[in-house]
Amino acid sequence: MNASLRRHTLAIVAGLGALAFSLPGQAQTSAPIKAVASFSILGDLVRQVGGDRVQVDVLVGPGADAHVFQPAPSHAKQVAQAQVVFANGLGFEGWMQRLLDNAGYKGAKVVVSRGIKPLRSGAPDAGHKAGKHGHHDHGEADPHAWQSVPNVITYVANIAQGLCAADAAGCEAYQRNAEAYTGQLRALDAEIKAAWAAIPAAQRKLITSHDAFGYYAQTYGVKFLAAQGVSTESEPSAKGVGQLVRQIRKEDIKALFVENISDPRLIEQIGRETGVTPSGVLYSDSLTGAQGPAANYLALMRSNTRTLTQALQGR
Ligand code: ZN
Repeated sequence: MNASLRRHTLAIVAGLGALAFSLPGQAQTSAPIKAVASFSILGDLVRQVGGDRVQVDVLVGPGADAHVFQPAPSHAKQVAQAQVVFANGLGFEGWMQRLLDNAGYKGAKVVVSRGIKPLRSGAPDAGHKAGKHGHHDHGEADPHAWQSVPNVITYVANIAQGLCAADAAGCEAYQRNAEAYTGQLRALDAEIKAAWAAIPAAQRKLITSHDAFGYYAQTYGVKFLAAQGVSTESEPSAKGVGQLVRQIRKEDIKALFVENISDPRLIEQIGRETGVTPSGVLYSDSLTGAQGPAANYLALMRSNTRTLTQALQGR
């Protein structure tokens, strides 16, 4: 081989190398994959893992209630265009299967709570056996698993796996994003535990609108009593409210909270009957808009924890 031919061969090899390297690059500049997330909190988690490669449409937006959501034709259109659909599962999106059927959706469906041990309603606090004292929605799975940060670490792993299956070329990026975000979740979990450590266990009891904080209660050692069950669908009975009012007096509970997705009138009524003033808003099932205090999942958990601990510390 003479010098000129050798140079020529090297040029071809270099050219092939450039071609091989250009393939992942091309995938990155192509259109992002389309994903649908059932509700705003999950939408944020999918965006954290998906990054630039994934366009996320959210069905139940900030401030809206997924328990009583009624899909419109525009939602079926979003679903029909998606390559992957993310749902919480645990009975949260009772409307989902019908929506997927109506949209003729044939893509992947990822249930992000897969692998989480569900709580049963009526047994929200740690150490209780399910069904022991449930006075409402006896034995129904509690869908609000995202209220415990370790569960969301599982959600993030399921999201990364779902995105990898839908878009293999992006898998490395999804895993990298998931790992970085999981680091932030671990720090958040430690931060919440530290905030509660300052409050004696006997004082960690409060009232909220619907039974959305069972997982938070279990993970962080707080007792929540709720006026409504794990779904907002059914109105609380007068008898149920009366029982709650008696329990607030008996246990000398001093903190009462409204939720962003629930009608505040019930909690206001309980406040009047017990003489306890509502201490703020908790974000249970939905983010706020970008300017609000719960614009993303990390902010939501920080805001709730701050609202709860400050009220119980009398600040
Ligand atoms: Zn809920």
